[in-house]
Amino acid sequence: MANDGITRRGLIQAGGGIAATAALAGSTLAQTGGAPRVEGKPLPGGVKLPASPPQRKRPDSVGIAIVGLGGYALNQMMPRFKNAERAHIAAIVSGNPAKLKQVGDAYGVPADARYSYDRFDAIARDRRIDAVYVVLPTALHADWVVRAFAAGKHVLCEKPMALTSADCERMIAAGRRANCKLMLAYRSHFEPFNLEAMRLMKEKAVGTIRLLRTEQSYRMGPTTAAENWRVDGTLAGGGPLEDYGIYGLQSALYLTGEMPERISAEAFRPAGDPRFASIFAHVSSQWKFPSGAVAQLVTSYDSAGINMAEVRGTEGALIMDPATSYAGQKMRIEGRNAREFNPGDPDVQFARQLDHFADAIRDNKPIRTGGDMGLRDIRLIEAIYASAKAGRSVNLNPDGTMRR
Ligand code: NAD
Repeated sequence: MANDGITRRGLIQAGGGIAATAALAGSTLAQTGGAPRVEGKPLPGGVKLPASPPQRKRPDSVGIAIVGLGGYALNQMMPRFKNAERAHIAAIVSGNPAKLKQVGDAYGVPADARYSYDRFDAIARDRRIDAVYVVLPTALHADWVVRAFAAGKHVLCEKPMALTSADCERMIAAGRRANCKLMLAYRSHFEPFNLEAMRLMKEKAVGTIRLLRTEQSYRMGPTTAAENWRVDGTLAGGGPLEDYGIYGLQSALYLTGEMPERISAEAFRPAGDPRFASIFAHVSSQWKFPSGAVAQLVTSYDSAGINMAEVRGTEGALIMDPATSYAGQKMRIEGRNAREFNPGDPDVQFARQLDHFADAIRDNKPIRTGGDMGLRDIRLIEAIYASAKAGRSVNLNPDGTMRR
């Protein structure tokens, strides 16, 4: 691992987050220009805008303002609003006027509901907007979530919640002050294969869980931080773990139903590769759970693609490959209860996530993937980086904070 000379104590005191992970990965905030700011990028290539705007279906449909018109918003989430029963796109927010017009026209968003970042706070007076969906680069989540709460709106926030647990706590506190809901966009909690896997593991379909393995990797093409925020440590933290490995981290938690009590980790960054000037190429961690089960989680931006989870118990194994994709999930059990599963179309995850958020707002129901879950996961990511930095395992409290 690249050695930057910061102490473990310094890392932990810094919260293990943006400053610490950037320093851990070898960059400094000063080098990359201080606190990140929103920037209006042009419409990404290859985006298909709808031929006709989606229609709201119910009078009590929740109006959502989309903050950040990037690849995920435009290619995945916005087109899926047509499948949601109780949520619609009420407004869009971007720093790029041409994109605002093009996307606004395609989605039938009225001209006065197309906000620049500078005018964002005016959404407080816009009664068409019940909630805000924050789908910006990770380091920007905290400030924009807090601003949305200050405007009195509910918030759906993309994963990972933020780069530091301190920011997560700030977001949760802002939501409480505003008396508004906060949901993390962890779509696998609404996806039939992962829901079935959770049910099977609760039923002990593979017996008592002993081993778990998750792998989330792909090989990123040549790029630099100036071109791609995912390789800029100030915006992306340590890189693949926050972005992709978080799916394996989530799977390890919801498949075992346990929190780890000890983590040891390694993080690697090759020298001289512009993709990894300020983030890691790969991160691997080993977890021990109170039951005695152990997990191995690996994630990489520099290895051939995979997205899998495997749980091995005393009587068989659950194999999900791909495990948490947008589509194409495959799942089987080997051993005593051997069979293949096809519990439904993974595509429903997007609209069900939106409807869960809308139901929570309209019917005051609890949220399955709330701010506490996002905070828990960032604590575990901090523990992984702290272990990698220290070169030894870290012990955890049941809430994921590190034991001193
Ligand atoms: P993207 O690069 O395609 O889009 C980022 C958007 O943010 C762009 O519209 C850009 O204009 C805007 N932006 C504002 N300030 C910026 C800045 N300083 N630098 C770069 N862009 C800036 O990224 P994306 O893939 O759409 O990811 C956005 C969020 O969605 C991230 O939090 C990511 O983790 C999350 N995401 C979630 C999933 C999922 O499956 N749930 C999948 C992909 C991305």
